[in-house]
This record gives sequence, structure tokens and C-alpha cells, in this order.
Amino acid sequence: MTTPWGFEDFDAHEDLHFVWNEECGLKAVIAVHSTHLGPAAGGCRFWKYENSADALKDALRLSRGMSYKNAMAGLPLGGGKAVILADESGRKSPDMLHAFGKAVDSLCGRYVTAEDVGISVSDMIEVRRMTPFVAGLPAETGVGGDPGPHTSLGVFLGIKAAVKRALGRDSLNGLHIALQGAGSVATGVAMHAGAEGAKLSIADVDQTKAHKLAEATGGKVVGTDEILSLEADVLSPCALGAILTEQSIAKLNVPIVAGGANNQLATRADGQRVQQRGILYAPDYVINAGGIINVSTEYLRDGDASLVRQRIEGIPGRLETIWAESESSGRDPASVADAMAQRLIGRG
Ligand code: NAD
Repeated sequence: MTTPWGFEDFDAHEDLHFVWNEECGLKAVIAVHSTHLGPAAGGCRFWKYENSADALKDALRLSRGMSYKNAMAGLPLGGGKAVILADESGRKSPDMLHAFGKAVDSLCGRYVTAEDVGISVSDMIEVRRMTPFVAGLPAETGVGGDPGPHTSLGVFLGIKAAVKRALGRDSLNGLHIALQGAGSVATGVAMHAGAEGAKLSIADVDQTKAHKLAEATGGKVVGTDEILSLEADVLSPCALGAILTEQSIAKLNVPIVAGGANNQLATRADGQRVQQRGILYAPDYVINAGGIINVSTEYLRDGDASLVRQRIEGIPGRLETIWAESESSGRDPASVADAMAQRLIGRG
């Protein structure tokens, strides 16, 4: 769509808030993309950006992604995101988190924050001192805390659904999974898949983490430059975004790509490229919704741990619907998912 602001990633965001507190050095952007389905929910990222324009771009893109993710997960939440621009020192002080909490509070619940890259549960406890519009706090009733393990469970179930569809297999036993990343999400995926008998190849820029995870799961460590072209049954990207490019897609050696990383496709055209190679792709914001499902249940207090699990178990069914529509329409799964999400947020 044409944008009245000239920002390439502006997508009819409902509002954008630029926060500046000279005393503590807080510089942040809060982007509310859509409140069509409920309060705009999405984490807060703390990151050292090259410049303010990159931070704004990240907030615009990530908040739209949250609208799509929350809608597709069937949650009564809209989409938003905050980014805090770290300075050269990368220092994050309690004062800064309190000032951020006040900014969130001033939106009176239009935006609900939680952890994202660079923000921990203890940071969220500081933010909570200034505002109730916070999730991802320590789990008091079995719901809440680190979203990582919930994301991993959804990704594992999504991989199983993809394996069933593409390979006609009910179990991961004996299948080879190439895992990019050995962090929070990858660890849970590896544990679940390893327990079912999958053979794992693991790559992480942090060799210590890669070796630790390989040891725990009987997997093998491979180079970060090898993982995307490794011959395997599933490639599970669980580290960075924008890893599926024209170049990397040409080298993929798997029938399935299904992983937890956000924004795996560098561009929309890359979704079509994956499809043209005959590879089944699980749209990232659908397969990785387990964490936000847990966060939502915590914030809205509308269920317990067993309901969280039940909701996460809905992820394979949603993927199936997308793949079935992709097959009948000929459109790639990512485009199908985007169109479904847009309809759900009233922008179809
Ligand atoms: P994390 O920081 O715990 O792990 C990421 C890992 O990727 C790190 O170990 C890092 O060293 C590694 N890495 C970085 N660059 C790499 C490269 N070039 N090759 C291989 N490994 C590399 O983060 P996480 O919470 O596990 O998140 C992983 C991905 O999943 C991110 O894209 C995140 O946005 C997405 N995601 C996470 C959640 C969640 O609940 N944590 C939810 C949804 C989506």
C-alpha cells in the first residue's frame, strides 16, 4: 500500500510512539500495528541498531508480524512491538526499564509488552513496577515465564505434521533433522525430536552451545556454513531471520523447512522459490506461536497449563489448513498464511 509517511515498512500501523528520556538515556519505539482482535501484544527488543531508521524498520515489521501471529494462533490479541535502542555501551539500567514501563503504561493497555531478544524475565519484573500491561513474568500458576519451551513444543509438533504430509511418516524416528541454532528454541526442539529417535545435526556460531546440545541429544555438530545445504529430511531454522534467500534456497537439500526463527524468508519471492523447489515450508509465525500462546494465557488469565498445551497442539492443524489451501490454489504457504492473517485482522 502507499504510505503517508514514506517508511517502506509502514503497513497502516494504528499508531507509532517515539519515546525519549534524557535522564536515563531511554530511546525506544513502540509500534501498534493492529488492535482489531484485542490489545496489541508483542515483546520488547533491546538491540544496538546501526541507526534510528533500522530500529523503526524493525518495530514496523515485527509489530505487523505479531498481528499475523496472534491472529493465526486464534488469540484475542492484536499486534505490537517495542524496540529499545541500546547505546554504544549496551548498558540497560533499571531506570531505563522503569521509563519504558511508564511509556507502556501511558498507552493504557493498547500495547502489552513481554520479553524479546535482549530482554529477560528479570527485566520484565522491573517494567512491571510501572505498568500492569506486561506478560512473561515468572510462572506462578504454571503459566508464564520463559516462552522458549512452549515455542519449541509447537515447532516440534509442526515438524511432525510436515513430516506426515511430505514423507507420509508418523514418527521422527530415524529421520535426520538439520538444526540451525542451539539456543532456547532449538534446544527444546532437539530434546523432543531426539527423544523420538531423530538423528540431529546442529550448528551454532557459539560452538560451546552447539557441543553441549549435541552431547545432550546424541547429535552431531556441523559447521554454520554447512547447515543450510546439508542433506537431511528436515531443515529447522531456529536462529536468525532472512536465511532463506535466492542463493540459499538453490542449495537446500531437504524436502521440508520447518523451524522457529522469525522472518525466515528474506523476501516474499523466496516463499515462491521454496515452493518451486518442491520443498514444504511451514510459515514461521504459525509454527512458532507456542510462546505467544503461553504469554497470552498468562496475561488474559483465561486458562491453565493444560489449556496452554491444548492450544499449542492446535498448531499442526493450522499448518495443515495452510498447506491444503496452498495445494489447491497453487500459491506458496507463506502467501496463503499472510492472506488468511490479513482477513482475520479485517484487512483482507
Ligand atoms: P537464542 O538467543 O536463545 O538462540 C539463538 C541461537 O542462534 C544462539 O545460540 C546463537 O548463537 C545462534 N546463532 C546466531 N547466529 C547464528 C548463525 N549464523 N548460525 C547458527 N546459529 C546462530 O534465541 P531463541 O529464543 O532460541 O530464538 C531463536 C529464534 O526463534 C529467533 O529467530 C527468535 O526470534 C525466534 N522465536 C523465539 C521465540 C521464543 O519463545 N524464544 C518465539 C518465537 C520466535
